[in-house]
Amino acid sequence: MTNELWGQVRQQLQQIVGANNYSTWIEPLEFSDLKNGVATFLVPTQFIGNWVSRNFSDQIKQQLNTSGVSVSRVEFSLSKRAPVAKMAAAAAKPKTKADLPGAPLDKRLTFDNFVVGKPNELAHAAAKRVGEGGPVTFNPLFLYGGVGLGKTHLMHAIAHDLIARRPDLNVLYLSAEQFMYRFVQALRERKMMDFKELFRSVDVLMVDDVQFIAGKDSTQEEFFHTFNALVDQNKQIIISADSAPGEIANLEERIKSRLQSGLVVDLHPTDYELRLGVLQQKVDNYRAGNKDLILADGVLEFLAHRISTNVRVLEGALIRLFAFASLVGREITLELAQDCLADILRASSRKITIDEIQRKVSEHYNIRLSDMIGPRRMRTLARPRQIAMYLSKQLTSRSLPEIGRSFGGRDHTTVMHGVRKIKELKMLDSQISDDLELLRRSLEA
Ligand code: ADP
Ligand code: MG
Repeated sequence: MTNELWGQVRQQLQQIVGANNYSTWIEPLEFSDLKNGVATFLVPTQFIGNWVSRNFSDQIKQQLNTSGVSVSRVEFSLSKRAPVAKMAAAAAKPKTKADLPGAPLDKRLTFDNFVVGKPNELAHAAAKRVGEGGPVTFNPLFLYGGVGLGKTHLMHAIAHDLIARRPDLNVLYLSAEQFMYRFVQALRERKMMDFKELFRSVDVLMVDDVQFIAGKDSTQEEFFHTFNALVDQNKQIIISADSAPGEIANLEERIKSRLQSGLVVDLHPTDYELRLGVLQQKVDNYRAGNKDLILADGVLEFLAHRISTNVRVLEGALIRLFAFASLVGREITLELAQDCLADILRASSRKITIDEIQRKVSEHYNIRLSDMIGPRRMRTLARPRQIAMYLSKQLTSRSLPEIGRSFGGRDHTTVMHGVRKIKELKMLDSQISDDLELLRRSLEA
């Protein structure tokens, strides 16, 4: 393989790993030689070598093979042009940002791109405050919540804001996994002093997904000391996890209590409005670059209704939809969305049962469940019954005869009549439409 060919393969890798990863990890690689199917690359530091080997060697190998270079393994060795003397010099001078072993920041994850709604407004406000870089008021800021609810997004947004306002600050963002990896490596290479010095020299430390170090004893220990040293110096710390500090299993008690000593805020599962807001924003962003996207009315509302609380899944669905629409060059209709996202919709729809609907509706109107199903026909019972039938039609995949059977063996025409009646009333009677909305939400929650 020639250097020129590597240059081309490298460009293709940029498409695969993204610009950030590319400039941090792939660009520094220098092709050395290819022997017996083993491609060797020179790396400026051992750390880069290890990281690339762990995270990108498969992609590199695959891309080389795709380009006609037959490679069974890739290896990394330290470049002679990064003499040890230079590293020693680097340790002597004050740390610069380039020395910090952080993870690259994603430039799309900003506050501007973060949609605020009821479920995340507190976390957003706290993150904004920390991003202002004023005096440290709560330390640490602890953000927690389920997968895909925006923890990482908020952390990156804080980092972007801080760096823009205070370029002098050393802001270090990394995942707990990377923290452990760095720690283990320092142990192995007998560079614990460097490690400690490095982590104690940052102004703002952000550790994402801290639950990862639970049960990993020596990493926890080191994390605890790093944490304390920074808090003592009044340096801001921001932590995220998938659950509240007290609920992380196998995390040392003293760490739990330390993590609770600042401000603990959670990101709640998204609600319909927030999901719709996120979808709307993504569509606007996409439209800015692709003017010809045509989206039928109701598609976003449908997705916001049907796709679970996880924003990442929501984004994935939209990306697929855009790709599909641009391939087939058609308007995105409800049918197309249902078709193209069938698997996602199936996986994320929580099955609501007729039984649940009957219970909720009876509770809401304060009638007995037996009356909901029973034969009595007075208005105070019939109306809630029709509402329950309507919701059963809307929220489950049951047929009219099936629904009829669940309502004390009523005929499907009775169900049809009830559903139609409520459809009409929904337009005319705001009380009924409010009730329906409330019931639907509490059933879907
Ligand atoms: P977490 O770290 O909590 O698992 P992420 O921050 O990685 O979740 O969010 C998952 C995806 O959803 C990201 O692409 C993120 O940009 C997006 N996202 C999450 N919450 C929001 C929000 N409120 N507004 C806009 N995008 C969001
Ligand atoms: Mg995350």
